[in-house]
Amino acid sequence: MAAPSCIFCKIIRQEIPSAIIKENQAAIAIKDISPRAPVHYLIIPKIHIESVAHMSDTEATVAAQMLILARDIAADAGIVGFNLITNNGASAGQSVMHMHVHFLAGKDIYEHGLSL
Ligand code: AMP
Ligand code: ZN
Repeated sequence: MAAPSCIFCKIIRQEIPSAIIKENQAAIAIKDISPRAPVHYLIIPKIHIESVAHMSDTEATVAAQMLILARDIAADAGIVGFNLITNNGASAGQSVMHMHVHFLAGKDIYEHGLSL
């Protein structure tokens, strides 16, 4: 279900502009408006799901399509190293309450101490 006031739903409905990189049946990738890496895209499901925590079992097919889109973007651009990050919940840094994956490349995101 679309959420009328959700900024990412508005982007998907093309009510507000965005720089679209690629899309597939279930997800769209756009440039982040405030990039924190040389390549910083957002992979956004076309249906409104608030976060991974709110995703139903059926909607998990959308998550697979989001990863497929990330794979295809990397392949298209010849990007061999990239990070996919999903913030879930305000306490984990989520500011737009429509599930999305940050696609980051060209930056060592571990340079300041985070180690996974
Ligand atoms: P998060 O903090 O994980 O919820 O990430 C939300 C991201 O959305 C941030 O990196 C913002 O820079 C980005 N963002 C917010 N509004 C827009 C917009 N209109 N177009 C593109 N990216 C946006
Ligand atoms: Zn939404």
